[in-house]
Amino acid sequence: MNRFARVTTLAAALLSASLISGTASAQLATAAQPSAAPATAPAQARKANIVIIGTGGTIAGAGASAINTAAYQSAVVPVDKIIASVPEVSKVANVKGEQIFQIGSESFNNERLLKLGKRVSELLKQPDVDGIVITHGTDTIEETAYFLNLTLKSDKPVVVVGSMRPGTALGADGALNLYDAVLVASNPASKGKGTLVVLNDEIHTGRDVTKSNTFKAETFRSQFGPLGYVVEGRSLFYRLPARPHTLQTEWDIDKIDKLPEVAVVYAYGNVNPASIDAAVKNGAKAIIYAATGNGSVGDYMVEPLKAARAKGVQIVRASRTGSGVVVRNAEQPDDKYDWIVTDDQLPQKARILMALALTQTSDPKALQQVFWKY
Ligand code: GLU
Repeated sequence: MNRFARVTTLAAALLSASLISGTASAQLATAAQPSAAPATAPAQARKANIVIIGTGGTIAGAGASAINTAAYQSAVVPVDKIIASVPEVSKVANVKGEQIFQIGSESFNNERLLKLGKRVSELLKQPDVDGIVITHGTDTIEETAYFLNLTLKSDKPVVVVGSMRPGTALGADGALNLYDAVLVASNPASKGKGTLVVLNDEIHTGRDVTKSNTFKAETFRSQFGPLGYVVEGRSLFYRLPARPHTLQTEWDIDKIDKLPEVAVVYAYGNVNPASIDAAVKNGAKAIIYAATGNGSVGDYMVEPLKAARAKGVQIVRASRTGSGVVVRNAEQPDDKYDWIVTDDQLPQKARILMALALTQTSDPKALQQVFWKY
């Protein structure tokens, strides 16, 4: 029996013992007081209608044993089963599951991103839908959330949620994360705050959040802190997103059918200049150069990047450090070379923003403004 077949067989037994029968949910039932109304929301006359879209990830994962918190198969449990395993969810909202994908989030590509965005947009237009929760792998949750944050044309809450441990593991976090995500999506105070990411008791804006640890439940961080907390059945906001999102942006998911190719080239000592040529040959319209420090570029990399720019490819200096801003004309003369800097955006998020920006302009000055705005 191959590894995945063995995992699946064992997982089925574990699922019926733990996930499906709701071991984790039973703990939740004592924690979530039915009387605890969302603190920042006015009393609601009716329960919100929330659609939960399943895309896969660890929140839909299963391991061979309860100690498999990091080695397991992701994207195997259907969204309806995940919902059924957390009965507390239907106490706060009328929920309906919809399976759009069953994949690890590393398998997201432009086509899948567009398909998801268009479906979310369709659902948000329905008057009887109050909000959307998307279950998603944690690896690229930040890219999907940022993309939706920039392209959805609705102020209804959209919350992307995942988990770091499969439902079969000791200390599984998916049940509570899903419950919290539905709470946030149901809370009228979440309206108009863009696409949110909820995990580990925290509410983050899709713009800033990033995964920072490979296995710990406390992995998501935002450079400027989360927007709020979810605690004991209450979602609490303390900050607002400062940059434009959803209704305030120039992109509409319904009008985008294709995204241009944007490559990320990672810098390191002895980085191979051929990686720039490879990106250009592959049809990249822009290269996000995940540079060292404050977007610094090795002396032997300057000419290959200038040559790519001469062929019409946009060059964006980003930083591989994970935080801070890249300062224009500091490490390199961006004005002279006609290059762009990312502001504070991480390379993988800069890729999303650049792909969207290129649907409207190829003027590097306008593209620079987009980075400073969003
Ligand atoms: N690599 C998988 C994914 O991103 C599992 C990781 C997770 O969801 O935490 O979907």
